[in-house]
Amino acid sequence: MTKTALITGITGQDGYYLSHLMLGKGYRVVGLIPPTRQSSIVKLGDLAERVEIYSVDLTDAAALTQAVEQLQPTEIYNLAAPSFVPASWDDPLGTLDLITGTATRLLSATRQLGLATRFYQASSSEIFGDVQSAPQSEETPFRPKNPYGAAKLHAHWTMVHHRDRYGLFACSGILYNHESPRRPPQFVTRKITLAAAAIKLGLRDRLSIGNLDAKRDWGFAGDHVEAMWRMLQAATAEDYVIGTGKLHTVRDLVSAAFSCVGLDWQKYVETDPELVREDEHFQLVADPSKAMRNLNWKPQVRFEQLVETMVQADLKRLVANNLSTVGIHS
Ligand code: GDP
Repeated sequence: MTKTALITGITGQDGYYLSHLMLGKGYRVVGLIPPTRQSSIVKLGDLAERVEIYSVDLTDAAALTQAVEQLQPTEIYNLAAPSFVPASWDDPLGTLDLITGTATRLLSATRQLGLATRFYQASSSEIFGDVQSAPQSEETPFRPKNPYGAAKLHAHWTMVHHRDRYGLFACSGILYNHESPRRPPQFVTRKITLAAAAIKLGLRDRLSIGNLDAKRDWGFAGDHVEAMWRMLQAATAEDYVIGTGKLHTVRDLVSAAFSCVGLDWQKYVETDPELVREDEHFQLVADPSKAMRNLNWKPQVRFEQLVETMVQADLKRLVANNLSTVGIHS
């Protein structure tokens, strides 16, 4: 029988890579998209013809329960979230309702319907927040520092409670930063690769950036979604920290991106104090050894390869856009 994967947040970066993975494994893939966000379907690109879309308001518990009952999913991947962390300060309550509310409603629906559906909750390294030690594992205490992290932590505990109290097969993947050519341009990786490509093509001449010494554990989104799927195929439902285990600075990123296009970054990059975030922690780095051991998972794409792929994709995109703007394509 064909397995069904239900995905919230399907139009985001992770939704795209996860859908590709699941379709390749023969799943029927259904994306839950709120009626107000139907225009985001264009972001599915080549997947639009291959996945099904179910229009439902993620804040409507009865409608979500109906969707789950009708679709009888084998697996649910709850990825929906406003992904850009700083924006959560502007709407803490909306962030909480979307992240924690959706998880709670989906878990309750699965429980009430008595389904054997396996549930993946997209958690985040932001739940560690104010870290006191590095690297972080599944045993590290949680100290979120922003509304996004707090909401993700609440969703994480809600999932744990459903697993412990009701015996649901539910897992949380505590994912570190993961990037790809589909990362939105407000994130530092994409901001940099896009700028390097644009400067190379003579479309702009400068890049303003925040703290060059900021560090993150940056992996490839395609590798991280593989871990999500593996979690739900395991014999027991457990939580996993997913990251590369390697820290790089924003300076490393800039240097790698500009060297892909043969430019010396120091000639083009300036720092802007306005872009420096206060009170940040730069020791957010994963200890993914449990996932490596139990799920036989390991990241396949190295940092330099990831940056190269993103720069090449941005070069291609900018050339295509530019050609179409000047009418050469028509
Ligand atoms: P985040 O880890 O989810 O906040 O992902 P981001 O890509 O937005 O930020 C990653 C790191 O890069 C953070 O430590 C930022 O403070 C740092 N950073 C430095 N300069 C910039 C910048 O110009 N834009 C962004 N978005 N981040 C920057």
